[in-house]
Amino acid sequence: MIKNYLGGQWVDSHATESAEVINPATAEVIGHCPLGTAEDVDAAVAAASAAFQSWRETPVVDRVQPMFRLKALLEDAHEDLARQVTLEHGKTLVEARGSVRRGIQMVETACAMPSLMMGQILEDIAPGIDSQAVRRPMGVFACIAPFNFPAMVPMWFWPFAIAAGNTFVIKPSERVPLTQLKIVELAEQAGFPPGVLNVVHGGKTVVDRLCTHPDIKGVSFVGSTPVAKHVYTTAGGAGKRVQSLGGAKNFMVVMPDAVLDKTAATAVESIIGCAGERCLAGSVIISIGEETRAQMETLVVDQARRTTVGDGLAPETDMGPLISQASKDRVKGMIARAIDDGAELLVDGREGVDDMPGYFLKPTVLGNIQPQMEIAQEEVFGPVILLAAADDLHQAVDWINSSPYGNTTTLFTTNGAAARQFCYHVDPTMVGINIGVPAPMAFFSFGGAKQSFFGDVKAHGRASVDFYTDSVVTIHRWIKDASIW
Ligand code: NAD
Repeated sequence: MIKNYLGGQWVDSHATESAEVINPATAEVIGHCPLGTAEDVDAAVAAASAAFQSWRETPVVDRVQPMFRLKALLEDAHEDLARQVTLEHGKTLVEARGSVRRGIQMVETACAMPSLMMGQILEDIAPGIDSQAVRRPMGVFACIAPFNFPAMVPMWFWPFAIAAGNTFVIKPSERVPLTQLKIVELAEQAGFPPGVLNVVHGGKTVVDRLCTHPDIKGVSFVGSTPVAKHVYTTAGGAGKRVQSLGGAKNFMVVMPDAVLDKTAATAVESIIGCAGERCLAGSVIISIGEETRAQMETLVVDQARRTTVGDGLAPETDMGPLISQASKDRVKGMIARAIDDGAELLVDGREGVDDMPGYFLKPTVLGNIQPQMEIAQEEVFGPVILLAAADDLHQAVDWINSSPYGNTTTLFTTNGAAARQFCYHVDPTMVGINIGVPAPMAFFSFGGAKQSFFGDVKAHGRASVDFYTDSVVTIHRWIKDASIW
């Protein structure tokens, strides 16, 4: 059973139940994650609260020194961490390496905290009066993570929160808790003082206590939309800052002038990369006009058929398994219902996987997708490529904006005017032009709109300084003293 990390010690959870951690490529159990209790959260928050004052008083230039050391340790451990991601999540080693790289970039960006959290000052707001605004750390923050990026997603949050002078509690996904444990071991080696960073394992009980604990100032959540809403309302109702990132339904539009072979390759990778288990995964490809639709269908079907599915550790694998049998069954169910709704089955990814040991599906391609179908509206989170058509860009954008989600969208085109109109009019707030997965990097901020994001201050980049600090304004008046000046 893996342990919690509280106040610089590895301690047993109070849990009486646990979740199996399973390698989804082999269905082997590779660990047990305790489903912790409110007592575990209380102990972590007590440790984080006790560490806060002296950490806050540590100059920011000193606070980032362990962050620099952590960056070096993460570089040394990069391959080991990537293998761990593949073992517990299933994505290919190439994808896992990329996700660990993105996590390291969070640490690099947080190292800039002395510049990032500088305040503002203005002399003479009135005669002899000056005013300044500083960014002040607030206390204990927490993050609650999903299963699909075991290394990267928790690191969207805690490096920024800690560098800004807060202390922190991580709640990893109970399905993939092992990678973040290795990262916290490295953070321990890097020399963060005890209690600055803490880990509590668990599920709903732990989440609910984090959302209501009186000594937690704010919660960062990433996961499905129903739980994102629950966390937003529960933690918000308890008076906390909340940023809650939810699910997605992402559309990609292909103009007749796009470079179609490259477009098809990029769009298919967006949809089936990480077996479709990405919040920025494309889902519906809307081609403009019948000719573009027909050409895209040929290219996409060919690309899908050429995909090698297997264990993510094998070098020849293009796509790994889904996270669980339940996920596989759910995606198969969505495919079957889409066919009942009138979708055309062009490639059936349910075939040829029954003899494989883990939770594999091959890429499925469905044509004739219409806006009212369940599969056109709900997140699939699996390798299902949906092909649709619209008469013009306006109609495609109307379709995108009718979705309750608003995470990301992409236009494939060589026409700058079309690109500009697209960016200007779409609701999603992470937008790509000829980019399949337009994921903002560490130094930009990350987050969608509508049912994909609850809150107002987004993740990482400069927004994280706003989220993890309070703005304190002081106004100074010094009466002129003629004996001095
Ligand atoms: P999930 O909502 O099932 O779980 C996320 C976290 O919430 C986990 O730590 C889990 O322990 C906890 N949780 C689960 N059920 C809960 C409940 N009833 N009450 C309280 N806590 C609960 O999500 P998941 O399946 O791990 O992740 C996949 C989802 O995450 C997808 O919908 C995906 O789009 C989304 N996601 C979004 C982003 C984004 O940036 N918007 C990024 C990654 C993943």
